[in-house]
Amino acid sequence: MGRNRESRAKWIRHSHLFRGDTYECSRCGYTAGSRQERCPECDSLMTGDKYDPQWVDELEMFDAIFDD
Ligand SMILES: [Zn+2]
Repeated sequence: MGRNRESRAKWIRHSHLFRGDTYECSRCGYTAGSRQERCPECDSLMTGDKYDPQWVDELEMFDAIFDD
């Protein structure tokens, strides 16, 4: 059974304004609702996470929608 190479990846943390944080696998792009030890999609070992403050963009969009 050949899983010889251990692949490693990071969770890219996305913060959202109106829902909880999501975590995106930096290797395959799988999005998880919580940080797990391994990506369930590509089975990479997760070595950490990267913060991507996406809510800043969402906040700007929110302002634009409700701007008088
Ligand atoms: Zn993955």
